[in-house]
Amino acid sequence: MGRQFAGNYGGIGTVYSCKKCDTYLTCHGELTSANFTGSTGPACLFKRVWNILEEEAIERKMLTGMHVVRDVKCLVCEAKVGWMYEFAYSDDQTYKEGQVILELALIRQSEPLDDPLGEDKVALIEGALERPRRQRRRNRSSASSYASSRSSRSI
Ligand SMILES: [Zn+2]
Repeated sequence: MGRQFAGNYGGIGTVYSCKKCDTYLTCHGELTSANFTGSTGPACLFKRVWNILEEEAIERKMLTGMHVVRDVKCLVCEAKVGWMYEFAYSDDQTYKEGQVILELALIRQSEPLDDPLGEDKVALIEGALERPRRQRRRNRSSASSYASSRSSRSI
């Protein structure tokens, strides 16, 4: 059940990238729905996806009716990652227009907080970021006092 909370880190959620070359595609904050199915199995609908090439628009009959869609490929390695909804004929499907489906079998999901920070997740959320920021400020002031003492000495 841990994955359920992935989107609650204030916009830092799961990152979705090309499975083949790991190019960044989108993040959890752009997720509209995880209840889609593609030709390869489960798929997710995203508001915005980056680093993709759009193919020619074609009409395709989906489970939810007729749509005009464009297959989308990774900008870097040109592997197919899903499709974009260009136009929906049914009024109740128009919310999908302009949004992009990524097929889970074709993309990689990674949790950025898991990697370098590991167990510090909770501390990070509770404001542990303040610590390095204070430290940086102290460094800057000591550097400027050093600089001013140096310049006053040179005058
Ligand atoms: Zn790629």
